[in-house]
Amino acid sequence: MSDTAAKGGVLELDGLTSGYNGSAVLRDVSLTVGEGEVVALLGANGAGKTTTLLTIAGVVRPMGGRVLYAGDDLAGTSPDARARKGLAHVPEGRGVFFSLTVAEHFRLKARGERLDAAAAYRYFPALEPLTSRRVGLLSGGEQQMLAVGRALARQPKLLLIDELSLGLAPIIVERLLPVVRAYAHDSGCGVLLVEQHVDLALTVADRGYVLSHGEIAASGDSQALRANPELVESSYLGKQSAPAAQEPAPE
Ligand code: ATP
Repeated sequence: MSDTAAKGGVLELDGLTSGYNGSAVLRDVSLTVGEGEVVALLGANGAGKTTTLLTIAGVVRPMGGRVLYAGDDLAGTSPDARARKGLAHVPEGRGVFFSLTVAEHFRLKARGERLDAAAAYRYFPALEPLTSRRVGLLSGGEQQMLAVGRALARQPKLLLIDELSLGLAPIIVERLLPVVRAYAHDSGCGVLLVEQHVDLALTVADRGYVLSHGEIAASGDSQALRANPELVESSYLGKQSAPAAQEPAPE
């Protein structure tokens, strides 16, 4: 566990069961994200990673269990209210607007909040010369920088990132992920990072959980998980219900 994780929990999922139209996709999922900690949520296609993030963001309503944010139960809190409390979600597919310029993305007054564009440009300096360019003309990597940069500009306390690597060359993601880590460590923001590229994710994450068929099949600190690829692989494939590689000590 990182030093910063010991500071306290930003997010706790407590026995979360969630899904669609009364049918559970996630079952009894419990995990934590500490202050300044980057936690990877790994798993095969369809394991329930996106559903986990959507449930935390309040878009999908849980069927059981709790989502605790800084110790508060978020039941009944709308997605907008969660965002105002400091929860930022970078969805799969980036959530940027092709017809707007980079600068206009920082002027959009989502939910009446103030966006700190300078912070985004500080973490992603490559965006600054592109301020007047329409997003549809940016490369995939630049669009992803903008999506994450816009989330950082909201000065979140919890950042949910879904598949940063989708459609990008690994080299681009290798540059983006350390920026997310630096932000988390500088600001104390907790990050829950959904990622298919296990090695890439565990290089930047402090800890990781593997979801298999909607259940946590393995968890541990990144070093332990990287040292045990068979455990991660078998959990991925749902071959076994693997024990935790090394659970963090209770706080
Ligand atoms: P991927 O890596 O492919 O994005 P994932 O781990 O993020 O997968 P989810 O997108 O959470 O998985 O999907 C988990 C399961 O829930 C899948 O079986 C999927 O078909 C189902 N599912 C996702 N969205 C809906 C929806 N809106 N209505 C019904 N079922 C859904």
